[in-house]
Amino acid sequence: MPEGDTIYRSARAMQRAIGGKVCTGFETGLATLARVNDDTPIAGRTIERVEARGKWLLVYFSGDLILLTHMLMSGSWHLYKTGERWWMGKDRMRAVIRTEDWQAVAFNVPVAEFHTARSLKRYTQVPKLGVDVLGDEYSTESGVARLRDYGQEHPEAEVAVVLLNQRVLAGLGNVYKSEVAFAAGVNPFRAMSTLTARELEAMAEVAGKWMRVNVLDGAGDGISTYFGNRRTTGNSNRDDRLWVYGRQGQECRRCGAAIEMRKQGEQARSTYWCPGCQPWVPAAGQAAVAPVGRAVKLRGPRRRVGC
Ligand SMILES: [Zn+2]
Repeated sequence: MPEGDTIYRSARAMQRAIGGKVCTGFETGLATLARVNDDTPIAGRTIERVEARGKWLLVYFSGDLILLTHMLMSGSWHLYKTGERWWMGKDRMRAVIRTEDWQAVAFNVPVAEFHTARSLKRYTQVPKLGVDVLGDEYSTESGVARLRDYGQEHPEAEVAVVLLNQRVLAGLGNVYKSEVAFAAGVNPFRAMSTLTARELEAMAEVAGKWMRVNVLDGAGDGISTYFGNRRTTGNSNRDDRLWVYGRQGQECRRCGAAIEMRKQGEQARSTYWCPGCQPWVPAAGQAAVAPVGRAVKLRGPRRRVGC
């Protein structure tokens, strides 16, 4: 799943390249988009702005038309100079927005719809997003408030599942979920009810800080890529970028214990943690024994850090 920072970077790169420009051509393989394009052509409209909201990417055209896309697991937006070769096959293209100098291409996006400002407001999924960790309104305080309120409504909810819930904090994906819990020293399987004020604050602070660092990392490159160079350790070396994510069986960079991994939540997403740095704290009535993960060393080449 693309992380919020990846989508934010895509949106920012697109905004720089095609924002304010006139659309010179629009092509799509999706019938619903093609119909709108036939009735009210996209070419000739100005691309007013490109915006990320959590995992949604929105392209605003003049004349009250908004292209809404969601990446889910497989989608991505690429930017190419006119005439540049695409990195993916045309069969995966879902939409192309052309300007004089650029082409923005949506590949494999499973959700792509045109909206007006009014229909977008009624579209329940986008407004339901929690506070966007990359939005201007995000602060450690607002992040704490969202986490605390949710924890009061769902005291039994597990920390890492809540961090991934886009209706609580929008933008955190599966990589950051584990990294944020590590930074706060919180075992990702703990119930929300066991969190202290300091732990809530640490998670909310780190979530905003790291996401921003990773967005800033992408500064300067006009082309947005699907896999950014995410880092949370402050080390830009490719292999040393993350504290726990994808490091099952390897030594904790802080205490040397073996990093564990376990599938978590209804979606069975991989969660990584250090049993040394992130001790178990049982809720009332919960077993005193910490959940156990696997800490088997991975064989073969190290896995690429993806989503
Ligand atoms: Zn550790």
